[in-house]
Amino acid sequence: MKKMLTCGVIAAAVSVGFAAQAQSAKPAPKLVVVISIDQFSANLYAQHRAEFTGGLKQLSGGIVYPNGYQSHAFTETCPGHSTLLTGKHPNKTGISANDWYDKTTGKTVYCLADPSVTLADDPKGRAVSPANMVATTYGDWLKAVSPKSRVFGVSGKDRGAITMSGHVADGQFWYQPGFGFTTYVRPGQTAEERLKPVAAFNAKLAADLKKQPFVWDYARSPLDAVSGGGSAKRCKALEADYETGGRKWRAALPIPAATNEADKRRDLYASPYTDQVTLELATALREAYGLGDGPQIDVLTISLSATDFIGHRYGTRGPEMCDQIARLDDRLGVFLKSLEKVKGGVLVALSADHGGADMAERLHDEGYDYERVIGKPWIAKLNAQVRAQLGLSWDPLNAEGGLDQIYVVGPDRKAVSDVERARITAAALPLINSDPAVAGAFDSNAIFTLAPAPADASPEELSLAERLRRSAYPGRVGDILVAFRPDRVPATAGPTYVSTHGSPWDYDRRVPILFWWKGAAPHERVLPLDTVDIAPTIAAVTGVKPPADIDGKCRSLVYGQGC
Ligand SMILES: [Zn+2]
Repeated sequence: MKKMLTCGVIAAAVSVGFAAQAQSAKPAPKLVVVISIDQFSANLYAQHRAEFTGGLKQLSGGIVYPNGYQSHAFTETCPGHSTLLTGKHPNKTGISANDWYDKTTGKTVYCLADPSVTLADDPKGRAVSPANMVATTYGDWLKAVSPKSRVFGVSGKDRGAITMSGHVADGQFWYQPGFGFTTYVRPGQTAEERLKPVAAFNAKLAADLKKQPFVWDYARSPLDAVSGGGSAKRCKALEADYETGGRKWRAALPIPAATNEADKRRDLYASPYTDQVTLELATALREAYGLGDGPQIDVLTISLSATDFIGHRYGTRGPEMCDQIARLDDRLGVFLKSLEKVKGGVLVALSADHGGADMAERLHDEGYDYERVIGKPWIAKLNAQVRAQLGLSWDPLNAEGGLDQIYVVGPDRKAVSDVERARITAAALPLINSDPAVAGAFDSNAIFTLAPAPADASPEELSLAERLRRSAYPGRVGDILVAFRPDRVPATAGPTYVSTHGSPWDYDRRVPILFWWKGAAPHERVLPLDTVDIAPTIAAVTGVKPPADIDGKCRSLVYGQGC
């Protein structure tokens, strides 16, 4: 009897579910919009979801995967963005971290560094291009079969604009404080021609800012008078005093005004202003090029950086982030409204490059046993131990890019022989693994030869070594890969830096994944989805064939209909 009852309940649930989902119309987009909110963890999404009234509410009314995963280990911006539209993990996009150490030159390399190009705004600035990314994106696949399709990428950061839009995009623009939106210039091109699509927009941006400087105070919505304060009241209630890295400060808006131009620019960059202007540029480009208005499919990728800037500088659960999320929700609503003018169908996907945790001090005050691991003394002690043990005259372990990826180097800070590398690594690993703050340390050579996790393995059940394998690109990733315990954070607080991400733990890996189109019936899907599944899913909807060697697979957007 009990068994029969259970079956009856399941049958009823299935038929109700089917009835609701059958209303979903199949998406048939002429414009694909993919949005990444930098550092938008699944926790942040869950914490604020009930408060959304704007764009995030609209997108949450479609297909919602609250448990999306950046399933690799080194959850930083460049690798995370590289998974979103390539269908590949960072060990196949080549983007193992934001920076890696080049042992042949003895120099740290930025993930997108390309000395063969220059920056349009500053010929002496850090030049970047898609060259280091060894995978192609959805936009690249689309343009290969549909040359008339246009692909544009915009962001507050170069790595947010370039990694999502790929190798043959029509425009990749990111915000450069004090200049406006910039891009890179290849040999034979001029900065003027490369900036043409954003020149008028940049001029207006500068004029507007001069006329009315952006002041970051609590957002006041017209509804506040009716609702009794709205987000302003809710966010202000989070004001409190903190001490991080020996610095006493008050979490409150507005922040104390900067006294010089450089600091003013820095503060503006790490404010909701960056997302506001990024979304305004997205709208301007959409309208200027008529993206989605023609017979072909066009692509617009948008990476919104302010949540990440604000998370690093103020933590994730203070009044600053509260206000940022409220404004982001509002601005996304304005942007989505502007897409109602698109002549063809629109498919919007939203996710994040990684999650993030709050600052260790606030977590500690809440009763969690969180502590910082301070980098310089940690690596100095380890180097001293290895030197003594092996009788070396130099520090053989280089952790300039962070304690999680350590490079074995010689006295000249460059590569050593394979034998010497093995000897130094063998001495260091037991020392690192005996540190109670460490969850596990591995030789990357052992990680490369590890059998990959099965393609259908749930991202939440991967072992630490399997997560690391998805990050480990040979020649770029460190020699010794270190995972600290989830409550031991290898991040030193600074004057404008309090919290971080980058770990192999779920607070940094879990991100929401949302799909929305007009006619989508709301559907919550609670099992994990990997961010590498986003590109093949969009490809299937738009009839584009992804490369055979991608990691992700297509997921059915319309209930019961398959890909
Ligand atoms: Zn990021």
